[in-house]
Amino acid sequence: MPAFKLYIGGKWVPSGSGQTFASLNPATERPIGRFQKGTAADVEKAVAAAEKALPRWQETPPPVRARVLYKAATLLRQRKEELARLVTTEMGKVLPEARGDVQEAIDTAEYFAGEGRRLFGTTTTSELPDKFAMTIRVPVGVVGLITPWNFPIAIPSWKAFPALVCGNTIVLKPSSDTPLCATRFVEILLEAGVPPGVVNLVTGPGEDVGDALVTHPAVRGISFTGHGTTGESIAKKAGTKKVGLEMGGKNGIIILPDADLALAEDGVVWGAYGTAGQRCTAASRVIAVGSSVKEVERRLAARTRALRLGPGLLPTTDVGPLINRQAVEKTHRYTEVGKAEGAKLLVGGSPPVGKGFFYRPTLFTGVTPDMRIAREEIFGPSLSILHAPTLDDAIDIMNSVEYGLSSAIYTRDVRAAFRAIARIQAGITYVNASTIGAEVHLPFGGVKGTGHTREAGWTGLDEFTHVKTVYVDYSGKLQRAQIDVE
Ligand code: NDP
Repeated sequence: MPAFKLYIGGKWVPSGSGQTFASLNPATERPIGRFQKGTAADVEKAVAAAEKALPRWQETPPPVRARVLYKAATLLRQRKEELARLVTTEMGKVLPEARGDVQEAIDTAEYFAGEGRRLFGTTTTSELPDKFAMTIRVPVGVVGLITPWNFPIAIPSWKAFPALVCGNTIVLKPSSDTPLCATRFVEILLEAGVPPGVVNLVTGPGEDVGDALVTHPAVRGISFTGHGTTGESIAKKAGTKKVGLEMGGKNGIIILPDADLALAEDGVVWGAYGTAGQRCTAASRVIAVGSSVKEVERRLAARTRALRLGPGLLPTTDVGPLINRQAVEKTHRYTEVGKAEGAKLLVGGSPPVGKGFFYRPTLFTGVTPDMRIAREEIFGPSLSILHAPTLDDAIDIMNSVEYGLSSAIYTRDVRAAFRAIARIQAGITYVNASTIGAEVHLPFGGVKGTGHTREAGWTGLDEFTHVKTVYVDYSGKLQRAQIDVE
C-alpha cells in the first residue's frame, strides 16, 4: 500500500513520530494509503519553514503570486476526472458531486487569481490640508488551515488560494479522513510553482497537529472549518490570532402552500440527501406551512424511498456512503432518539447489511421544534418534516436553532419571499432553490453557532489580510488631527 509523507520546507519528509495511519475507502472499508501521524514537533518544523519563506513571498508582487493560482487552475482542470475519482474513493460522495468538488477548486483558483490585480484598498479624504489617507491590505503572516473531509479538495482551495494571493505562507492540516486528497492538492500547488516553504502539509490527529498549530505563537492566523465543538475550543485557545471559523448547520426549507411543489420536492431531495446529508448546508428540516404538509409528506416519502444507495463510483447510485463507522452510528443514534421523542419514521432508519459505511436515506414527519432531531446537526441522510400554521411561525421555527448557515423558501408570493429574506437568521437564504449550491464569487458563511466568517467572494480576502491605514502628510509642518481643525 502506498505510504505518503509530510511536505515541509520544500521536501517530502516522514514524521518524527515514526507512525502512520490509514485512510479508508468508505464504500469498501479498504485502506487506500498510509499517512504520517504528525506531531507538535513536525508542526514546529513546518511553521519554521513557513516563517522563513514569508518575507520573500510577501515581497512578490500579487500579480506574480497569482500566476501560481492560474497554473493551479489549469492543472486542476487537466486532472479533474482523476481527482474526482479520488474524492469519491476517499470520501464517498457520488462522482458527479465529486466533479463539482474539484470544479469548485478550479473556480476558486480563477476567482482569487484575479485578485492579484485587484486587492483593492480605499482612498479617502483627510480633515487636514496636504495630507493623503488610504488603506492597503497586508498579509496576516503564517496561517494554519484546518480542514474537514466533506469537501476534501474544495475547502482546502477556499482557504489556500486567497491565503496565497494575499501573501501569506501556509501550514495545511487536513482531516484525517481525507489525507490523500490533501496530498494531491498540495502536489498540484507545487507543480504550479509555489516556492519551498510557502505551502507545508502536516497530516495527523487534530488534537496534536491541529492543536499545535492553534497554539503556536508564530502562527498569526487560523482558518478552520469543522464541528462547532472543535471550533469553540480553537477560538478559546487561539488567543490574539486572527481566527476564521466555519461550523455546522441545521438548515431548513420553508414550503408555502402556493409553492411549485414539484420544484420544492426536487430541491429538498437534493438538499437533504446529496452528499448523503454531509454538507454543512444540507437541508435537515422541511417546514411545511398550512395545508401543504400532507402533500409534502407524500411526495418526499415516495422520492426518498426511490433513492438508490451504493458506491459513489457507480452511475446508478444516488446516495453514497457516510465517511466512517462513527458517522453511521451517530446517524442511527439520532434515528433512535427521533423515534423515542415521538416522531413518525416514514422511510429508512437503519444501515443496510454488508461492507461499507452506508445508511438508508431517512425521513421523519410529525417532528416538533423542541425535538433533538429538529435542533442538532446529524450530518447524515436524515430529514425531518415539521409543520407550521403560518409563514411567521415557520420563520420562528427556522430561527429556533443554535445554527444559522443556510435556509430556503419555496413560494410564488414575492411578499412572502422578501419577508423570509429579511427575518431568517442565516448567512444564506435561497428563494425557490435548495439550501446547497454556493457559488465561489459570493460570500459564504453563517451567523450564531455557525460562526461569522465569510469565506469566498470578495469577503474571502478579509480572513487572510489585515487592513493597514496609511497617512501621508506632505504639508511639511506638524498638523494635529482634531486639534488644528476648525
Ligand atoms: P471536525 O471538527 O471533527 O474536524 C475538522 C478538522 O479539525 C479536522 O482536520 C480535524 O482533524 C481537526 N481537529 C479536530 N480536533 C482538533 C483540535 N482539538 N484542534 C485543532 N484541530 C482539530 O469536523 P469534521 O471533519 O467531522 O467535519 C464536519 C463538520 O464540519 C460538520 O459539523 C460540518 O457542518 C462542518 N462544516 C462546516 C462548513 C462551513 O463552511 N460552515 C463546511 C463544511 C463542513 P482530525 O480529522 O485529525 O480529527
